[in-house]
Amino acid sequence: MPLSGRKRKAGPLAVLRIVHRFAMAHAQPDYATLIRQQGFRVTSQRRLILEALRQCGGHVSPEAIYLCVREKAAAVNRATIYRNLDFLCQMRLVVAAQVNGHRLYEIAGAAPHHHLICRLCGQMIDLPHRQVEAFCATIARQEHFSVELEHLVLSGLCPKCQRAALTKENDKHMIP
Ligand SMILES: [Zn+2]
Ligand SMILES: [Zn+2]
Repeated sequence: MPLSGRKRKAGPLAVLRIVHRFAMAHAQPDYATLIRQQGFRVTSQRRLILEALRQCGGHVSPEAIYLCVREKAAAVNRATIYRNLDFLCQMRLVVAAQVNGHRLYEIAGAAPHHHLICRLCGQMIDLPHRQVEAFCATIARQEHFSVELEHLVLSGLCPKCQRAALTKENDKHMIP
């Protein structure tokens, strides 16, 4: 297939793959070097944001990042945090996700990772990448579009909340 051949060619994507491989090979990736290699400056704000994300762990709100960074750099403002988060996402050092209507950020892992989040109880379930890969492969085949998906969050109802919703619905019908 010409598609899979094209995917392996060197280009901006290949550079990003190297970034990921680098992250995989080092437990503590040297983000500063990665940013510099792409021709950007490692500002203290960028460094503090990455530190804050690492410190908080998991999915972090911009507000939590702001509060964490402000402890070390009192003059920082929210706009700077947002701007730098966008930059770090473009660099693929950070991934963003829409969780229950809020945009949250997380340090990018060595490999893509995905979640299912229950909109009622908030339970988070890991979604294996191979399932997402199958979906992306279908799109590549049918639409000839190469999806770059590193962090997917799907909202819905967990088994427990589905059962609870069903019981509630049944109870409603029992009322005379
Ligand atoms: Zn995540
Ligand atoms: Zn639930």
